[in-house]
Amino acid sequence: MIVVMQTGATEEQIDSVIERMVESGFDVHRSTGVMHTVLGGVGGPENVDLAMFELLDGVKEAHRIGSPYKLASRSFRPAGTVVKVGPIEFGGHRVIVMAGPGSVESREQIERSAELVARAGAAVLRGGALRPRSSPYGFQELGEEGLRLLRETADRHGLLVLSEVPDQTQIDLVTRYADILQVGARNMQNFTLLRELGKQRKPVLLKRGIASTIEELLLSAEYILSGGNYDVILCERGIRTFETYTRHTLDISAIPVVKKLSHLPIVADPSHGTGRRDKVSAMARAAVAAGADGLLVEVHPDPDRALTDGAQSLRPDQFEELMRQLRIIAPAVGRTL
Ligand code: PEP
Ligand code: MN
Repeated sequence: MIVVMQTGATEEQIDSVIERMVESGFDVHRSTGVMHTVLGGVGGPENVDLAMFELLDGVKEAHRIGSPYKLASRSFRPAGTVVKVGPIEFGGHRVIVMAGPGSVESREQIERSAELVARAGAAVLRGGALRPRSSPYGFQELGEEGLRLLRETADRHGLLVLSEVPDQTQIDLVTRYADILQVGARNMQNFTLLRELGKQRKPVLLKRGIASTIEELLLSAEYILSGGNYDVILCERGIRTFETYTRHTLDISAIPVVKKLSHLPIVADPSHGTGRRDKVSAMARAAVAAGADGLLVEVHPDPDRALTDGAQSLRPDQFEELMRQLRIIAPAVGRTL
């Protein structure tokens, strides 16, 4: 259930509505907007009498939410959520570019990556340090040392850090080094991990599972939101279809669909979305044109020698060219880069 308060409703009125919702069995999540405070009630009875709430002082309207996700739905925060991370904002005017190698391989590799990412104008340095790989024989990453390198290098170049949390036992470790915690596609329905991420307060970048619907993605976000962590950024990273030419099929249409259904920011990952370097820039351009709030792009100083995901990593010159193109596309859709 959603209760929308009138413009100018007093704190006292809001508190007494919250009290009534709690008495009726709801867990209450509050969203304080510029015009209206919205109270989202989850977990209460299905047949609650809406009129009972509409008659309370200061209430504008009350309604039931038809979708299975409540806090992730657009009606909870009609104006959209802006996730602030240090000096940057996801879901604001600027399209945020996060870039870097698939994995942190060495001090030299991450230094060269950070240098080129910062020079081209991206805001966030990405890099895997703890991720499980699809094959147990693949490069198994540097662990805490990788996170430390990522942090130090990013700080030197004025970048923020995004890295993946592979399971709930690693949340504390990644939190010590990263600004944004990534949930990988293979973990989108790891509900134990999602619940734990809901209890802490670092922003989470939640990637869509390779065989997940948009509704399932939003339900996974709901797990994090219902724990009280509202800083969730969704990521379309390609789904598995019958097409084999590309590694996955980047579902660009998920961007406008999510924008309509949810208030959460959504970014696109054209690297995993295509799996092929020569297709990444075209899909990155398409994602920004379609309204993505940001991009997650793999770029490597020497992709042909990359230990992970080299085929989908842009070369430095390709990344620079992409950033130049995005500076033209973003303003055409009312954004900046
Ligand atoms: C990644 O971003 O490095 C990654 C492994 O992505 P995904 O979980 O989308 O496969
Ligand atoms: Mn990767």
